[in-house]
Amino acid sequence: MSEKFDVAIVGAGPSGLTAAYFLAKKGLEVVVLEKGGELGSKNMYGGRIYTHVLNRYFPEYTREAPVERWVRKEQLYFMTKNSAVKLEFFADDAFLKESFTAYLTKFVQWLGKKAEEAGVLIATGVRVDSLILEDNTVKGVIAGDDKLYADYTIIAEGANTLLLDNLNLKPMTKPEEVALGVKEVFRLDEERINERFGVNSEEGVAGLLVGFPSLGSIGGGFLYTMKNEITLGVVIRLDEPVKKKIKMYEVVEDFRMHPLIKKLLRDSYMIEYSAHFVLERGKLPDKYLYGDGYLVVGAAAGFELNTGLVVRGVDLAIESGKQAADTIIEAHEKGKQDKQTLASYISRLKNSFIYRELEAFKKAPRFLSNERLYNQYPEVVNEFLKEILTVNGTPRRLYSTFRKAMRNKVSLLDLIRDGLGAVRSL
Ligand SMILES: Cc1cc2nc3c(=O)[nH]c(=O)nc-3n(C[C@H](O)[C@H](O)[C@H](O)COP(=O)(O)OP(=O)(O)OC[C@H]3O[C@@H](n4cnc5c(N)ncnc54)[C@H](O)[C@@H]3O)c2cc1C
Repeated sequence: MSEKFDVAIVGAGPSGLTAAYFLAKKGLEVVVLEKGGELGSKNMYGGRIYTHVLNRYFPEYTREAPVERWVRKEQLYFMTKNSAVKLEFFADDAFLKESFTAYLTKFVQWLGKKAEEAGVLIATGVRVDSLILEDNTVKGVIAGDDKLYADYTIIAEGANTLLLDNLNLKPMTKPEEVALGVKEVFRLDEERINERFGVNSEEGVAGLLVGFPSLGSIGGGFLYTMKNEITLGVVIRLDEPVKKKIKMYEVVEDFRMHPLIKKLLRDSYMIEYSAHFVLERGKLPDKYLYGDGYLVVGAAAGFELNTGLVVRGVDLAIESGKQAADTIIEAHEKGKQDKQTLASYISRLKNSFIYRELEAFKKAPRFLSNERLYNQYPEVVNEFLKEILTVNGTPRRLYSTFRKAMRNKVSLLDLIRDGLGAVRSL
């Protein structure tokens, strides 16, 4: 293998590895540089992967990918300190293969193996410190004392965009544009998970938890069932713990000790604890997604979607990796690396679901910054149900009980304003 490659890719996450796989399949010489000591060791997420992109690009995944459980139940919890209202959607068989739970580490290892089989060189334990910039063109990467030249560089460094920030290739990320996710994994035997969640061994549960899990801060909790584990975590916007003087480890601990969660975790033990950033700001403007000699993919480009009910990034990462690969394959055939040629990446993205969906939900981050969603509304929902379900001889009519639950928490005007906001943003 020569010192110079056709393509150098920074980061072996789903985006970088997908790009690498498709480039190598077309015969290009590709190197992926990953700072983690082992493939997958730095990749962390909540727990579920949507299958639509896999059906398109890796249909063999149903046989090969490390699926834990197929998501059969979707749950939404509104929680206060000692109560919870659960909304559950139980799906039929047709819905069953829309998403599955999996460990991102194992999924990345699976993708990495496919990329290596296609001819990609994956170098783990290598942190890229900077990019080679010559004549205003990116010509490869710098790792320690080593320079590695490439005709094209793909930046797939994930949400923590140190490389792009250090080179001023995008505006610095602001604290309110990022959230911190902390995840714990609890081992519990398969049978007990099945019993506790009312599923069989193939079926899984995906849960979103609002209110108490983030202690009323902008954020929320998540829960996924794996084969023999329950993963549980909290995501909170980065500026919130400082503003409200709360400590992340305490938030996670309180969440775990909530009476409802305690019951779900009974007899389990924690086997893993991890943390990672997730972007809340939406995608980067187009002009920061490509330049002379380089493209930006996946979470580094801001391709993550939080609609309040659905949190996604892996499917967008895979799609952007594929689009970046196609862009480079075309440019390589023309023998060009310039910005004008690589601009076709944007038109490809515009024709993909990434731009369609990010455009549709572009107002979501602003709407989801409304503290009432995490504070007052979960309390109102819980209080309302508690009241309306109480039978003690005092009549509780629907509307007056609802108004009582709202009193001193949400005004009618706020309710209308937030309702309209939801309609316009989500
Ligand atoms: C708490 C949390 C929950 C989430 N839940 C879900 C979920 O359930 N479903 C879903 O679809 N998405 C979820 N996401 C989002 C999803 O994890 C990301 O969108 C996705 O992993 C992005 O893939 P990527 O390849 O762009 O980046 P990443 O997966 O972050 O990979 C980037 C890689 O680049 C490497 N790297 C970074 N800098 C360098 C460097 N300088 N040199 C060498 N290597 C480098 C990193 O080590 C890493 O391996 C969640 C995210 C978080 C944080």
